[in-house]
Amino acid sequence: MPYFIDVILPVPLDKEFTYSINKNEAAFLKPGMRVAVQFGKTKVYAALVSKIHQNPPQIYEAKEIEHILDESPIVTDSQLELWSWIAQYYMCTRGEVMRAALPSAFLLESETIIFKNEQTKVNESVLKDDEFMIYEALQHQSLLRIQEVMNIVSKKNVLPVIKRLLEKDVITVQEEIYEQYKPKLVRYVKLHSNYSEEGALRLLLDSMTRAPKQREALMQLFMLQANSNKPVKVEELVKKSNSSSAVIRTLIDKNILLEYNLQTDRVQYEGEQKVETKELNTYQNKALDEINDSFLEKEVCLLHGVTSSGKTEIYVQLIEKTIQEEKQVLYLLPEIALTTQLIARLQEYFGEKLTVYHSKYSVNERVEAWNNVKNKKNKAQIIIGARSAIFLPFVDLGLVIVDEEHESTFKQYDPAPRYHARDTAIVLAKMFSAKVLLGSATPALETYYNAKSEKYGLVELTRRFGNVLMPEINLVDIKTKYKKREMTGHFSDTLLEGIQHALKEGEQVILFQNRRGYSPVVECNTCGHSPQCPNCDVSLTFHSHRNQLRCHYCGYTIAMLQQCMACGSSELSTKGFGTEQIEKELEELFPEHTIGRMDQDTTRGKHGYERIINRFENGEIDILVGTQMLSKGLDFRNVSLVGIMNADNLLNFPDFRAHERSFQLMQQVSGRAGRTQKRGKVLIQTYNPFHQILQQVSVNDYLGMYKDQIEERHQYKYPPFFRIVKITGKHKDYNKVNDAMNWLVKSLRNVFAENVLGPEFPPISRIRNQYHKNILIKIPQKQSLAKTKEVIKRIHNSFKSIKEFSGVRIIINVDNY
Ligand code: ADP
Ligand code: ZN
Ligand code: ZN
Repeated sequence: MPYFIDVILPVPLDKEFTYSINKNEAAFLKPGMRVAVQFGKTKVYAALVSKIHQNPPQIYEAKEIEHILDESPIVTDSQLELWSWIAQYYMCTRGEVMRAALPSAFLLESETIIFKNEQTKVNESVLKDDEFMIYEALQHQSLLRIQEVMNIVSKKNVLPVIKRLLEKDVITVQEEIYEQYKPKLVRYVKLHSNYSEEGALRLLLDSMTRAPKQREALMQLFMLQANSNKPVKVEELVKKSNSSSAVIRTLIDKNILLEYNLQTDRVQYEGEQKVETKELNTYQNKALDEINDSFLEKEVCLLHGVTSSGKTEIYVQLIEKTIQEEKQVLYLLPEIALTTQLIARLQEYFGEKLTVYHSKYSVNERVEAWNNVKNKKNKAQIIIGARSAIFLPFVDLGLVIVDEEHESTFKQYDPAPRYHARDTAIVLAKMFSAKVLLGSATPALETYYNAKSEKYGLVELTRRFGNVLMPEINLVDIKTKYKKREMTGHFSDTLLEGIQHALKEGEQVILFQNRRGYSPVVECNTCGHSPQCPNCDVSLTFHSHRNQLRCHYCGYTIAMLQQCMACGSSELSTKGFGTEQIEKELEELFPEHTIGRMDQDTTRGKHGYERIINRFENGEIDILVGTQMLSKGLDFRNVSLVGIMNADNLLNFPDFRAHERSFQLMQQVSGRAGRTQKRGKVLIQTYNPFHQILQQVSVNDYLGMYKDQIEERHQYKYPPFFRIVKITGKHKDYNKVNDAMNWLVKSLRNVFAENVLGPEFPPISRIRNQYHKNILIKIPQKQSLAKTKEVIKRIHNSFKSIKEFSGVRIIINVDNY
């Protein structure tokens, strides 16, 4: 009987791929191991075994595998199960999930290698110059890599010449697969066994009188070994004996010392001893009890606690309990870079038990974290990470915490899989019967709805820790202020007074300026023209400190113009205001104080955020101006005033969640004020002080906001009452997208009738030279989700077979909000 395996390939093709194996391989292989397989004409991939069976494929003959890459599975059964769920739910392929899930070091790449074709006798006279150069090189070398071929013919594009040589039978090519992960080895030394006898050792030392440095190094080695039984690192020995690596090298070469390597992890926590966890107050204790009670009945619990109510300390208690039961904990955060304060706090409590899974880690560091989780190592008992941490190979998960669960960064928009990490984490937890705690001061509407309808447990914390009062929030009507000439630049007199007061008291100020829609745009005073991005349908944004115009969608930049492109006038002005302009105005208004700015431009680089956060924390910055980034859980002790420069552009954003998001953002930003005894102050500048959402923000009325919004969602058929699948078509030809999407919408309407919306061009319909057009499908609660997706898939398949639409890229996004 023949044997076969089904494999997952890291490609966006929606098929099972079956390869044949022999009996021995069948006995050895397990799901989750990788095999190298040929795919397409020349490509070799590392594919992941998903199933071993004996059913030959129906329509093609299965190829044999090239070879087996792993000794044991690198992916667990639960992971394979989760991948299937993600692929099915978010309508993508398991290959796409695999691409997102595996550290890139596991996704082996193949490289083309060129050999001389020994079978043919080459007629050198028919070879062109470049062909001959490669041919000649192969007379001296057995193989060439692409990079070497590039060097030989000194050009980048070498595929044509390789192709010609192949056609002339001069060369053959092969794809070699290479592994990227290299274990990190540390060099150690010990005394060579030649000298283990005391007599031999004495003789040696006596003979070394004329090599005092070597002798000193040797003596130091004995000291180090005497003090502890640990192996001695070369690096350590060099340092302790004030020696050099050359000296140690000589000792090794003389066979006095023996060198050996041990594998170590690249990321090691080297912190101090553990700090005791804090004792909870009555309210926190009550909340903790309620959470534990809720976990007896329900898998998921929402902890709705106002900012600074001490949610983190409750998480800490739950984590402590879980690791005592020797289970693993996953702590999901919206973003790692912005939460260094929180991570430092957790590290103090849990020390080396905590692993941070960070997108800025190198491939090797990621592989190590992966292996530690899979092997249930002590140091990976608690994993803290952003959304991709859900892909780690947990073996004994006990608890998942999703902190700031309302944050939109938990959703991956591009590329596929377009998953929501919070929702996926709930599925993951279920596979282990683990508990999930969702925490937020401003829960997502869907989450609160699930809690209210008793699908999730609900625990509320309404007081700030230490009886600190919620900040006092005031709305400033800037329409009137402008009329009465009480504005200086973008600052109302009220806000200016507030800032002056805080600074005088030695306190710090945070000013929030939403970037969206309020970036400074250049406009010609004569003809009104503003320069546009050539690739996207947006105006270019002015960045004064580089004196550039930049597109925020595609990255296009040009130097700031001297003249209007349309009429040549040199009278250009900047309209709108961004963080940079606010910073400038502040520098003029408060020349004695230090102003800091935190946005995408000032936080580049590995430690960009940390630097600014630290400077602010240390009091080196008095006023910090920033974007959305400021809302993410920062805990500054000395901030007494938070100003929101303009609330209106948040509210007017064309999206069904705009109001909910505005509320969340303003509440979170406000939460940065007055986290200690003195009551904090928040000033919100707006043209519409009577806007319902602003009224609700000003009195911390989450429930009021929830009731209004949920009513609207119901009325206009939005989540949680209807699910949404968004279909986007993209192509550089405007008419082609139009025709394609018209065809799609017609086919979809045949089935889903009035629940299909569009097709519609989004507000920015061209990005990177591609036109976009959207269709929304709304799915009522009683309609089967699985069946709906099947229909969408079927229609998509028919679409793909239509020639005139070829090249139109279709993107399906489930739960696109
Ligand atoms: P949240 O996560 O709800 O915004 P935090 O957990 O950051 O709130 O708590 C706010 C502040 O109160 C922090 O500085 C924290 O150290 C302090 N705090 C919270 N709970 C306690 C406690 N039980 N004992 C001492 N300090 C606490
Ligand atoms: Zn002009
Ligand atoms: Zn652009």
